[in-house]
Amino acid sequence: MSQARLASCIPLPLEHRTLVSVVEKAKDWALMHGVGMRDRKHFTKDAIQIAPFVLLPSPFPKTEFTKAIELQPILNELMHKVAHDDEFLTNTLQNALQVDEFTANLFDIWVKVRDEGMAQPISLGMLRSDIMLESRCPHTENQCAKHTPYCSWKQVEINSIASGFGHLGPVSREIQSYILRQLGQAELLKNMPENRALSGLCSGITEAYDLFGVPGSVVLFVVEEVSYNICDQRFHEFEISEKRPDIMIYRRTLTEIYEEATLNDKKQLILDGHTVAVVYYRSGYEPAQYPTAKEWDARLRVERSTSIKCPSIHYQLAGTKKVQQALAAPGVLEKFMGAGAATGRVRDIFTGLYSLDFDESGERAVDMALADAERFVLKPQREGGGNNLYGADVREALLRMRHSRERAAYILMERILPPLVSGYVVRPGAAVPPPLTDLVSELGIFGVIIGTKDKIYCNRQAGHMLRTKLADANEGGVAAGLGALDSPFLL
Ligand code: ADP
Ligand code: MG
Ligand code: MG
Repeated sequence: MSQARLASCIPLPLEHRTLVSVVEKAKDWALMHGVGMRDRKHFTKDAIQIAPFVLLPSPFPKTEFTKAIELQPILNELMHKVAHDDEFLTNTLQNALQVDEFTANLFDIWVKVRDEGMAQPISLGMLRSDIMLESRCPHTENQCAKHTPYCSWKQVEINSIASGFGHLGPVSREIQSYILRQLGQAELLKNMPENRALSGLCSGITEAYDLFGVPGSVVLFVVEEVSYNICDQRFHEFEISEKRPDIMIYRRTLTEIYEEATLNDKKQLILDGHTVAVVYYRSGYEPAQYPTAKEWDARLRVERSTSIKCPSIHYQLAGTKKVQQALAAPGVLEKFMGAGAATGRVRDIFTGLYSLDFDESGERAVDMALADAERFVLKPQREGGGNNLYGADVREALLRMRHSRERAAYILMERILPPLVSGYVVRPGAAVPPPLTDLVSELGIFGVIIGTKDKIYCNRQAGHMLRTKLADANEGGVAAGLGALDSPFLL
């Protein structure tokens, strides 16, 4: 069976000279508008190189795009409820905690903070639900009964911490618009949906700041030792600085927070003499970002404070793969959302998700995966890309872990097979022109939600980002150098 394919926005290939010329222009546009990243191989703070990007916008069906946009506030609210359901989080994570030290450390912080009484009941969620079109259809052997090269989209995951590309998402639309204009195709711009992710996400931070309500307080970005994805982060700062010159932003690593930030007797987090109103984590989602006990100490200090956290610790736990899998189990969505139409719409976006716990259904899942490993992805409780296993590695890992408790730290997920699209990926340092290649895309929809357990102050969809990778690559992280920035061309 050949994989389904979507038509590109203009006929390809481009003529050689045209292609060389637009790639050169586009690279300069990229450098001059922050479509960039720091170079991992030759790191210096004094230079930015282009981030990999797809030359032309990739097709995405309009009805499926609209559905994703419409569903986002429902997903935001679901995550909000999950984050505030102590019993559900505890039950869902308990087996994984026995064998996954990182998640257990996060969980311990949550228990400590909860037991001493949350100093700040408000959480700021800046979520990103990542989705892929599914080309296989449950109704027919290969192509969809609708006779389209896709059936519907399925959710890959939902991120609750450091959901990046608020700048790189919208600017991808801008660079591709420029390229289409240079190719004399300006009339196609109408198919590229507006994308206000940057202002949408930043206003989440400023709304939380206003709810905190302490004049002269500051915003703290928790950052990595080295931020390779610096353009994305800095543009958030530039946006806030432009819209709200009264708000000062600090950037600190967890290690620096350990050394510099204190809690006063009112549990306010104090940095450089200022009260911290909002803490926005762009780090803190993977074990390497907590190299010693100091960083865990810093995280605990922040969580104990009155600052509004994005995410607060329970929101981070709600974003684990284990929670995603548990939500797909029979009856669970109904518990959170009732039995109405919205529940059915959310259920439809789940692909097969299976627990690997030591019980009957866990055993069935292991057998199923061993019988046809190519159909599945094996996922640990990790973020940031590069942690999942595919194909033969799924089989090997399951054979190794079959009788080990380690298994409970993973979930098994059915592999989504998106339709192919042809395109050119422009990469830093690569030969010009790039080859025409087969690609697949992953759309991320941003959501902002602010609230306490009982009261939601704001809940909205906040723009999107599209990442595209070579069709035969397992993962497509842009910062990891595998994926490329892209934007949707609605069909
Ligand atoms: P992370 O939190 O590390 O980003 P993801 O679940 O998003 O973990 O997986 C990383 C990447 O792996 C995704 O961006 C996607 O390219 C690929 N991937 C994950 N799950 C699936 C799936 N079920 N089907 C196809 N590809 C997947
Ligand atoms: Mg993730
Ligand atoms: Mg992901």
